[in-house]
Amino acid sequence: MKILPINNIALNSQINKNNKQVKNNYSNNITDLNLLNKNYNQISFRAVSKESLEFVLKIPLEDRLASMFEKMENGDVILVGKSLSQTKLKLLECIDNIDTLIKRVFYLPEEKHKGYLGFFKDKDGDRQVINLNDYDIRLHDAEALKTDVLTANDSFYIYDNDLIIMPNNKEALQIKDKPKVDLTGYRKNFCKAVDFSKGVQEEIEKLNRKVVSQLSREVKEKETKVTFKDVGGQDELIKELKRSILFPIKYPEMYENFDVNKGFILYGPPGTGKTHIARALANEAEANFISLNGLEMESKWVGESEENWRNLFEEARQKQPSILFIDEIDAIGKSRGGTDVHGDKTLNQLLTLISDLDQSKDNIYVIGATNNFKALDKALTRSGRLSKHLEAKKPDLDGVRQIYKIHSANKPIDKDIDEETLIKRMFELNASGADIRYIINEAHILGYDRAGIHEKMENGTITGKDKRNFRINQEDFDKSIQKFIETREGSDRRPIGFNK
Ligand code: ADP
Repeated sequence: MKILPINNIALNSQINKNNKQVKNNYSNNITDLNLLNKNYNQISFRAVSKESLEFVLKIPLEDRLASMFEKMENGDVILVGKSLSQTKLKLLECIDNIDTLIKRVFYLPEEKHKGYLGFFKDKDGDRQVINLNDYDIRLHDAEALKTDVLTANDSFYIYDNDLIIMPNNKEALQIKDKPKVDLTGYRKNFCKAVDFSKGVQEEIEKLNRKVVSQLSREVKEKETKVTFKDVGGQDELIKELKRSILFPIKYPEMYENFDVNKGFILYGPPGTGKTHIARALANEAEANFISLNGLEMESKWVGESEENWRNLFEEARQKQPSILFIDEIDAIGKSRGGTDVHGDKTLNQLLTLISDLDQSKDNIYVIGATNNFKALDKALTRSGRLSKHLEAKKPDLDGVRQIYKIHSANKPIDKDIDEETLIKRMFELNASGADIRYIINEAHILGYDRAGIHEKMENGTITGKDKRNFRINQEDFDKSIQKFIETREGSDRRPIGFNK
């Protein structure tokens, strides 16, 4: 083993004379480069000749790469290829695979190694390689001892000791987290760096500001993310709600000279999606959604209902635009005239608040929902109160189809199922949106029974394969529909007093 005379390299251009020795010795002589490192401060590699740069290029690619990996940050892209302009073009073709903002690009020129590669850290901070070639390359996973094919422009995770096998290279490229010797001082010499971080900083700040301002909305959307796209077979109703509530909230300037109606009743059979639609409306309008249930309030608010109502309207006022949704409003707004003094007081308080709202410029909408429209007190439904009445009907055949598609979209449905016949059957059974959802979910559960999935979960023998292979089939749907019919016959699903 020959130790390189470091003085020659360090202080004068004798590096040229000696670099042959360095070249030859790099692979089996770590000491040489360690010594070089110590003296790095004394060397100006920028001023060195082409030959000495060649010396640096003789350091194996895997070590140069490893040295780059040591300092790789999010937003860095490392390119390897014969020419930067070619590599750049290749990168452009698969730029969509990089899910972080590029702040710096490092280019490692490489003659010996044929082909093009890109490396970056994805948004989770994991290192990935992109195949920049128009042919397949192979990735050998050192830990799992398996080899994956990486098609053109595709990217994949890489870890220490993995091998990148390219068809035109005799030797595989080994991924290393650390180079054989510390190359920190030489990076400038074997790699071109282009720093875009200044240029993108302004954009990043702008985007960051936008993201932060969306923070509270994001959280809210996560809780209630249904939109009109998730509602099937209620096109007429949605059209009305858009015109009456969504547009006045979104485009207030268009309604300055309008008497905007603030109170609504949504009526129709149970399960037609009244709550669902109101929630979707609030999300579409990016409005605060306050949802209450008349029945629950009647029992919970005894003795405090007037104050509670006031507080509720105050909350809606502070967070406007707001949509106050009162399900089963018939529990509060039943026809008066009986001996229920408490009930009358509650209703009177609600009526006062709604009347005030109607006179104000507050961006608050009250939607009462009921299955029992006829039972409502006229004082609640007359003009200036909850005066606009919109019907949620059971879906027609096309509506059933839409609702089926919405609720089965993410289900593992067997492709042999005759969906049209199934849809027709549900329509003939006069199924509501909630019924359709029930039938699909129940079929899924029955399918788990049939396929022994429940049993496997019980025994702890379930595997990913079970999930992948499972499909809801025709038999599951037949059973589910049968169960639905029996459940319906067993309980009085017809809304009392609702006859439309
Ligand atoms: P309602 O308030 O009319 O009783 P819901 O909105 O509570 O009905 O409906 C219960 C569930 O049934 C909803 O959360 C939704 O998943 C489903 N559903 C009901 N109607 C529809 C519809 N028209 N489109 C899509 N899903 C619906």
